[in-house]
Amino acid sequence: MNKTNRAIARQLKLAADLIELTGGNAFRARAFGSAARRIERLEESVPALVAEGTLTDVAGVGQSLAADIAEFLDTGQFPAVAELLATLPPGLLDVLRVKGLGPKKVRVLWQDLDITSLDDLEAAAVAGRIAALSGFGAKTQQNVLDQIELLQSYAGKAHTAQIADEVEELVEALRTTAGIARAEAAGRFRRQFELVEDIDLVAEGSPEAIRDTLAARGVQFESAAHAPLRGTLPSGMRLAVHPAEAGTFGRVLWAATGSEAHVEQFVDRYGLPGDTDDEATLYTSVGLPVVAPALREGTDELEAAANGALPRLVTVEDFRGSLHNHTTASDGAHTLREMGDAARAMGLEYLGICDHSRSLQVANGLSIERLMGQVEAIADLNADYAADGGPAFRILSGTECDILSDGALDFPDEVLEQLDIVVASIHSAFQLGIVEQTARLVGAAENPHIDILGHPTGRLLLRREGYAIDHDAVIAACAATGTALELNANPWRLDLDWRWVRRATAAGVLIAINPDAHATSELALVRWGVAVAQKGWLTPEQCLNTKSADDLLAWARS
Ligand SMILES: [Zn+2]
Ligand SMILES: [Zn+2]
Repeated sequence: MNKTNRAIARQLKLAADLIELTGGNAFRARAFGSAARRIERLEESVPALVAEGTLTDVAGVGQSLAADIAEFLDTGQFPAVAELLATLPPGLLDVLRVKGLGPKKVRVLWQDLDITSLDDLEAAAVAGRIAALSGFGAKTQQNVLDQIELLQSYAGKAHTAQIADEVEELVEALRTTAGIARAEAAGRFRRQFELVEDIDLVAEGSPEAIRDTLAARGVQFESAAHAPLRGTLPSGMRLAVHPAEAGTFGRVLWAATGSEAHVEQFVDRYGLPGDTDDEATLYTSVGLPVVAPALREGTDELEAAANGALPRLVTVEDFRGSLHNHTTASDGAHTLREMGDAARAMGLEYLGICDHSRSLQVANGLSIERLMGQVEAIADLNADYAADGGPAFRILSGTECDILSDGALDFPDEVLEQLDIVVASIHSAFQLGIVEQTARLVGAAENPHIDILGHPTGRLLLRREGYAIDHDAVIAACAATGTALELNANPWRLDLDWRWVRRATAAGVLIAINPDAHATSELALVRWGVAVAQKGWLTPEQCLNTKSADDLLAWARS
């Protein structure tokens, strides 16, 4: 889906929730809610429709709503939302974010218990006052406590993908400022973690120039004068700037990159490193190859380096194809042809299309009939691609087949066997226990037509924990059946977690790094999957996407 459309839909949904929360007109709330769903499903981009003056052609979008949307595109403020927010205690919005409550319940909590913040909510839950409310009960109260704990653990963190542009711009600004010789990001950001809660930068140059350059870009500094310089980015993320004197940049960068365990183990084995400009010499001077930042977690990377056993890490350049992507046939924003053209333009040799299956109605899942129609359309399109004189490229037919709550697959074998590639994923019954969830995944792996288990835990980073699975049992089932595990590259997912990737590859399981693209622009999300895959020591040979189209199809058939 188009990013701007999604942002507009979020504002409309928020307006609907705020109207309900404030006890406003229910019809008005419903109108906003249904407009949100329409815009979410819209193929055309809303800014384009606004420019053409045809936004009111969309059902449910009248003159005044169209004007509000235009204003949002102009100013970033949605009038109805701004008006309603002005009348509410600011902390109430945090309460609305608690999963499982919703505007109706939040209204009751506010009106009956005077709850206007997460702190109030927690106090009321601890005191047992929520369970006593009619329509709430002990289960809701426990859920509130669990959710608050989660929200607290998410606070102050961000997806690396979300903050990367901001960090890279700051580094670039430092590098291009007179009086600053060098600058680099360090810490967990450089070690390619999926989430960050603070940013470390290393800079060599005049402290005034460093401070002024960053302050001019909205960094707020604390007053303390001694190093490191601490402050806050415009996005609210904490920042530490480590100054390096001439001739020390390499050592300072290395120490600020960490991890602490890696640095400690290095010092234990080789002693304190001397000053150096170039971080690489710190390793080479003691006879080691350079250990990539992604690997510096203090596991066995130094031992591997000493034994010449460091992995050749997979890179985006190794990719020959992309699997698991969506089109307008289910919940994607672009057509088959648009997705294919975009993948080909990126230099890929094949693109797997795995739209949702029939049970996933919220995502417009395909019936068997529609799926078979798509398979034919793919064959036609491939014939065009083969004949047009362009680079060799083909679309692989497929499905993201739902694993139903009882473990059955959403399509029968006769359908699955006609497809090039089949991803099986869980999108429902997240509340089931670890035994049932594991059985769902193991059962899917055991079906000979299933090639890849999609986003194995269903987690959404900083929004929702994954359902419980027995990773070792799932890995064992994949190893026994030759099923690959997905590392979903969407920055919200990055699922399979990289901490399990090495365990999976050690068992012989291949990893498919899939963008799960719902728009052409999302094909590039693989970079985030590759970043964490490197943390899992993934090599090109262990990654499904490095196979040629023929090898991939042969693998899928075997
Ligand atoms: Zn999915
Ligand atoms: Zn998907």
